[in-house]
Amino acid sequence: MVADQLGMVARFEVRMKSDRQVRQQEQAAANGQRVGGRRPFGYEQDGTTVRPREAVAVVAGYDALLAGVPLAQIARDWNAAGHVTGQSRWKGEHKGQPSPWRADSVRAVLRNPRYAGKRAHKGQVVANAMWPALVTEETWRAAVALLSDPTRRAGPRGNARSLLSSLALCGVCGSAVQSGGAARPGVRGYRCGGSTGHFARMAQPVDRFVSAVMVERLSRPDAADLLVDENKVDIDALRTEAVALRQRLDALATDFADGSLTASQLRTATARVRARLGDVEGRMADAGRVDVLGPLVAADDVRAVWDGLSMARRRAVIDALATIRLHPVGRGTRTFRPETVGIDWKGSG
Ligand SMILES: [Zn+2]
Repeated sequence: MVADQLGMVARFEVRMKSDRQVRQQEQAAANGQRVGGRRPFGYEQDGTTVRPREAVAVVAGYDALLAGVPLAQIARDWNAAGHVTGQSRWKGEHKGQPSPWRADSVRAVLRNPRYAGKRAHKGQVVANAMWPALVTEETWRAAVALLSDPTRRAGPRGNARSLLSSLALCGVCGSAVQSGGAARPGVRGYRCGGSTGHFARMAQPVDRFVSAVMVERLSRPDAADLLVDENKVDIDALRTEAVALRQRLDALATDFADGSLTASQLRTATARVRARLGDVEGRMADAGRVDVLGPLVAADDVRAVWDGLSMARRRAVIDALATIRLHPVGRGTRTFRPETVGIDWKGSG
């Protein structure tokens, strides 16, 4: 019996100790502090001091993701710049050396609330972190929304080697345009992706024309209006509301602990606040996605900026601005006719 008692005391002490550790961890999280662990990419070992070269890569990674660049490409870009993950290879010829970036490790970085200056605990954001953010909360939320839901997408789908494949539509049937179908080998072509195949035509003159029209549109004095969206949200108001709602959740928990709310009242009130918070966070994510046009609209030399963009980014810009429809060119037509390319501006355009 004594042995049983001693065993119980020992177990009790173990539980007390782990309860204390849990409380300490929760307290650290609520204060936005870090409790140690592997060095986070973009920061020094203290988790707080920014490591500039990596921070630049992180910011570029969010930017690329939101413009439709695939995770695997972002991984290749980081590897090419000489960045490595904090993990080591555990087998093979290079065992023990740092692993290169891959799509899944890039995904883990971009989903991490730390880069928006948020401290998470058990998968929930619980506080503003003690370390500096590298991106805005909207940018991070937009990235998370994109990575969590396969039906959402930033840039247009399809391979990013061609400007308009899977992006433009057939002017006859509305099917997505595909690459290929050019008359001569070595010449890129576009064709109607529908089963009937309404046209096949050379890609290069179309790409050149569409690029010129986009540059022209973005060079006009009123180009900044393209950024003004009727549904554009007041991001400061959303941030303020999100903070207030999170405080409301905390207050509800306190009221319940005090006994001034019953469990069922707590459940109802929490569900209501959480639904509203989900809505606010969703609108913040939407607001984080609009930035593909910003750098172009602000540029003095739009053509130079356009030429410097990756194919994925150019496709994202076209997708944001217009719907492109390609029409059949007719037999024996040699010269490019602009009227065979329909450009419908989205929004006020
Ligand atoms: Zn068609």
